[in-house]
Amino acid sequence: MFESSCQFAFFDYFRVPYAVRPAVAPGAGAGAPVPVHRLAVSGPPEDGPRALLWPAAPGRAARRPGRYRLAGFTFFGHVAAGPAVRGTLDQLGREWHVTEEICDAAGDPCAAVWRDGTGSVFLPFDPAEVMREFWSEGYRQIGRPAVARYGRAAILRGYYLLRPVMPRRLQLRLRRSYTRVQDRATFPQWPVEDSLHRFYAWLFDLLVTLAGRPVPFIDPWPDGRSWALVLTHDVETDAGCRDIDLLRAPERALGYRSSWNFVPLRYRVAEDTLRGLRDEGCEVGVHGLRHDGRDLGSRRLLASRLPQIREYADRWQAAGFRSPATQRHWELMPSLGFDYDSSYTDTDPYEPQPGGCCSYLPYFNENMVELPITLAQDHTVFSILQNPDAEVWLAKARFLREHHGMVLVLSHPDYAHDPRLAGGYRSLLESCRGDDTVWQALPREVAAWWRERAQSTVRRAGDGWRIEGPASARGRIRFADGTSLPGRPPAAGSAEPAAQARKS
Ligand SMILES: [Zn+2]
Repeated sequence: MFESSCQFAFFDYFRVPYAVRPAVAPGAGAGAPVPVHRLAVSGPPEDGPRALLWPAAPGRAARRPGRYRLAGFTFFGHVAAGPAVRGTLDQLGREWHVTEEICDAAGDPCAAVWRDGTGSVFLPFDPAEVMREFWSEGYRQIGRPAVARYGRAAILRGYYLLRPVMPRRLQLRLRRSYTRVQDRATFPQWPVEDSLHRFYAWLFDLLVTLAGRPVPFIDPWPDGRSWALVLTHDVETDAGCRDIDLLRAPERALGYRSSWNFVPLRYRVAEDTLRGLRDEGCEVGVHGLRHDGRDLGSRRLLASRLPQIREYADRWQAAGFRSPATQRHWELMPSLGFDYDSSYTDTDPYEPQPGGCCSYLPYFNENMVELPITLAQDHTVFSILQNPDAEVWLAKARFLREHHGMVLVLSHPDYAHDPRLAGGYRSLLESCRGDDTVWQALPREVAAWWRERAQSTVRRAGDGWRIEGPASARGRIRFADGTSLPGRPPAAGSAEPAAQARKS
């Protein structure tokens, strides 16, 4: 269906079938101002060969990465504009015209998406870079002077250093007053930031038009489920250890399983507690080493702590890591050696390290599966923003359900004496009860499924398609059909009749 001159990260992520053939690369020629990559529609086309083209070297296409708006979403990266693009398009031939304008951070048109007479499309940016800027939160460094970045990092370091000796009331007061600064951030939006998923839908629509037919991909969720619910808890202190049942009891009563992250060197974690949780089908994970915000402070510090972190991971049979205060470092996370990490949020301007990967689906950071926290933390909702109830949770959960995303909630037994949390958590659990469209899974199960999916491929089988690889038994093929609404992820694409025969 498609042939690409290089790996196409978007198709790799959604498991859309395509072939990599470096031979189709020389589109712009060696003398072109901006070398391009090319994803061509394969097979016998009625009206000429159509392709998606984009700059091969984003750094050569534009001097600096920036923040942009296109088709109702925000994105970040290098965008090629001006004479360099004109020169490239001239070399590629065939009456190019602008189909969509791209605006800069000030809202002024500065670049464009182009289409030619055959239907080929030129993107002035690299889709893989766009995805990576979101996932890694690399966008947070864009457009900020280095001095501001270092100043902020120093304040954060100071906060983490002082936090252990700071009275909790003072911590709360600082965090509450800081929300006034954080409220001014325009990106990511809170509690929902759907730019990344709008970008996916936009690109899928474009590719369906290019292909002239629905585009198959592997559904994000197994067993015919259309969304996922993942319950996780961080146990902060001794008191939290004693109060596990405040949150575990309502789960147990409604038949849910959950994951519990403990801090190895902050309090004593009784073997009985861990066994009790495992016996009920729950999971145990590692929540930093000491909960002092220093595990990921530097490469050297991590190297000195890693042997102990790994020792506890093995002792507790833990597959997952959750960083204290969701401190995270894109380059260092994979070296933690866990199967998955769950320290990124999709959007959270209120954390000491604010930001968000904007994804409500899992994704990979090298070989590590990243499971973003997609509901605001209990502490943020009730203690900092002082919401009277859990409506923020319930509304976001409804949104994610409709958008085939993952509801991954983090709550703390340490704070569960607050009736707003205890009651809110119960109402969240009750709202998902009896829903046969949901996959209620442990994080380690989601990570394992995501690996199986990533190792599987959609292949032609007679008139239809089938999944080959470890996801063949539980996976389902869906089709992006070009009618997806803005913001609706492609899982909403209708099933092609041929899909019924996928497993012959
Ligand atoms: Zn914590």
